[in-house]
Amino acid sequence: MSILSVKNLEKKFGDLTVLKDISFDINDGEIISIIGSSGSGKSTLLRCMNQLETITSGTITIDGKTLVETKNGTPVYAGKDVLKEILMETGFVFQNFNLFPQYTALENVMLAKKLLAAEQPDFKERKREILTAIEVQAKVLLTQMGLDNRMDNYPHQLSGGQCQRVAIARALALQPDILCFDEPTSALDPELTGEVLKVIKSLTDLHITMVIVTHEMAFAKEISDRIIFMDKGVIIEDASPDEVFSSDNERTREFLGKYHDVN
Ligand code: ADP
Ligand code: MG
Repeated sequence: MSILSVKNLEKKFGDLTVLKDISFDINDGEIISIIGSSGSGKSTLLRCMNQLETITSGTITIDGKTLVETKNGTPVYAGKDVLKEILMETGFVFQNFNLFPQYTALENVMLAKKLLAAEQPDFKERKREILTAIEVQAKVLLTQMGLDNRMDNYPHQLSGGQCQRVAIARALALQPDILCFDEPTSALDPELTGEVLKVIKSLTDLHITMVIVTHEMAFAKEISDRIIFMDKGVIIEDASPDEVFSSDNERTREFLGKYHDVN
């Protein structure tokens, strides 16, 4: 079953078209890597899916709900409630972690849940019980990320790899159906990259749909059900890792040729 569907997506910044007629479907539980040179539109695509950018035209459907569709050439977004529902179903782990520096690891993981809980009508009566449950869940997630002895540390007291694992725990706290990663290891040293890739690989057991923008080709080849290769705002390949890595397409060959470790 398709959990995410993008049809004829176009995104312009002023006169610059950065996404051109992008269409693809992702099935429930699939792991998709998006690869391509810097500037090819990978982040913009993820940001359009996560409501961080508005599209110029096209359709995006997430878990059967229409996020945006185009009528008479104009994109029409869903109402506030539906947008929020969809947002709750899609987690996003950023390139630069985006942790709140003034909060500990534990507080960072708990924050979104606490804000949501405070909106519930029965929050006042059940405050203690609800907050305890949120804290227990955050501690379980941080422990799963190997950070059981780091919960009370602030981001500046953690390595880049540890920060990224906190960011992953924070995204998982909302139990998303789809988890998007934008170059989760690009800000990390090689040894820290390995530790974060290992954590992401361990998430495959959770059967969450994952969309991962990455330059780690060996990792993408190993972990993905499908790889999407983008070049200059268009999808050149959308196929199994084996098919993409043995593609005859000239642009694909040229791009992958830069990564000697997997060829
Ligand atoms: P990638 O993630 O593949 O490196 P991006 O999606 O970040 O590519 O960028 C695609 C293109 O869109 C680039 O040419 C970039 O300069 C441009 N771009 C991205 N964000 C903006 C923005 N907010 N305003 C104008 N141009 C942008
Ligand atoms: Mg990017």
